[in-house]
Amino acid sequence: MEYFLSDKEKIVAETAREFAEKYIRPVRAEYDETGEFPWEILKKMGQADLCGIYIPEEYGGLGLGVFGLTLAVEEMSKVCGGITLAMAATALGTFPLLLYGNKEQKEKYLPKIASGNMICAFGLTEANAGSDAGSIATRADKDGDYYILNGTKTWITNGGVADLYTVIAVTDKSKGARGTTAFLVEKGTEGFSFGRKESKMGIRASSTTELVFENCRVHKSQILSREGMGFIVAMNTLCNSRPGVAAQALGIAAGALDEALKFSLERKQFGSPISSFQAIQHMLADMAMEVEAARAILYQTARTIDSKKQKNFSKESAMAKAFCSDVAMRTTINAVQIFGGSGYMKDYPAEKMMRDAKITQIYEGTNQICRNEIALQLIKDAKGKK
Ligand SMILES: Cc1cc2nc3c(=O)[nH]c(=O)nc-3n(C[C@H](O)[C@H](O)[C@H](O)COP(=O)(O)OP(=O)(O)OC[C@H]3O[C@@H](n4cnc5c(N)ncnc54)[C@H](O)[C@@H]3O)c2cc1C
Repeated sequence: MEYFLSDKEKIVAETAREFAEKYIRPVRAEYDETGEFPWEILKKMGQADLCGIYIPEEYGGLGLGVFGLTLAVEEMSKVCGGITLAMAATALGTFPLLLYGNKEQKEKYLPKIASGNMICAFGLTEANAGSDAGSIATRADKDGDYYILNGTKTWITNGGVADLYTVIAVTDKSKGARGTTAFLVEKGTEGFSFGRKESKMGIRASSTTELVFENCRVHKSQILSREGMGFIVAMNTLCNSRPGVAAQALGIAAGALDEALKFSLERKQFGSPISSFQAIQHMLADMAMEVEAARAILYQTARTIDSKKQKNFSKESAMAKAFCSDVAMRTTINAVQIFGGSGYMKDYPAEKMMRDAKITQIYEGTNQICRNEIALQLIKDAKGKK
């Protein structure tokens, strides 16, 4: 389908596609196996101008917004959702700064992020606060011009490898979610360390660790927006970043469809390519329909966000994330099926794609939480019309 990309958008998609073929495809299985962080590839992504696509031009980026980011994440995730996540999770960690940072904070960090010289992360989740993010317990107690952070964040993507972390902590327990604040914390700050690195089912090239704060002193100038805005910073960040997860999911799904189609033309049984069997054709047709529908909902959501004409897009963002990730799961399961026994083997890419797809239904708000958000907005809108 034709999405009428601008010349700049076409260049971004093409660059990301070529980059993935040249630098990611040859090594994706190796990174999946070892679980190592793709430092070299990320450095090259920076050199190829792929790290600052969504960052405004005045801060050294390409100024192509959420839609530009979507195109690049989709193209690279067609080849490897795990390696691509190193860049996509930096976008998640950068959105709080883009949305709520002051001029000084933006000037200090954004040019480095845009050039690929600074990796970011977003620290919200804790052991007892996953979907129920409002119940975080990491504290930030005021001490003059500083705040003293204590607590542990769990399962933070880019943990340990990132240079800059947005951390949501409680500054006034009596106010619940409205008593939380967002802090920019640099790696190397005294009292800030990393817990264990997780060994994961999929997206194994990405680093997932705990963030540990033990009497970590952070200056008040590192607050994003103002005290008490932490939950709002976090929720609006997710509204802007969920299309990134959707793009990762769409890329994985589209990549799995490509691989399955190619395999179906080559593999012969009963004297014919398996692509000649109607059962296989219908699976391929369903996969293609769903991938295209996922692309349409995602592109339109990203364009809506970038247009800045719609103030609240939490429903659209949650729809894109839940829909694309459900499609990724169904498509990759079908891809494994089309590959038959080969689909179960690590010699072929289908099983990795299925493992990589699963996380997109879980992080940045599980698909149950996304459906809660969609229903909440539907009901709100319906009541408003009454
Ligand atoms: C690999 C990985 C990377 C991650 N990266 C980050 C990161 O960079 N930063 C960060 O802050 N977090 C990160 N997370 C955390 C992730 O966002 C959470 O895992 C996710 O939000 C779900 O929380 P939970 O795992 O505690 O599940 P729970 O909240 O305990 O949920 C368990 C189950 O109950 C369901 N459930 C819970 N509440 C409801 C409800 N009200 N209605 C319906 N169903 C419900 C959920 O959908 C789920 O199926 C990451 C997680 C993983 C696994």
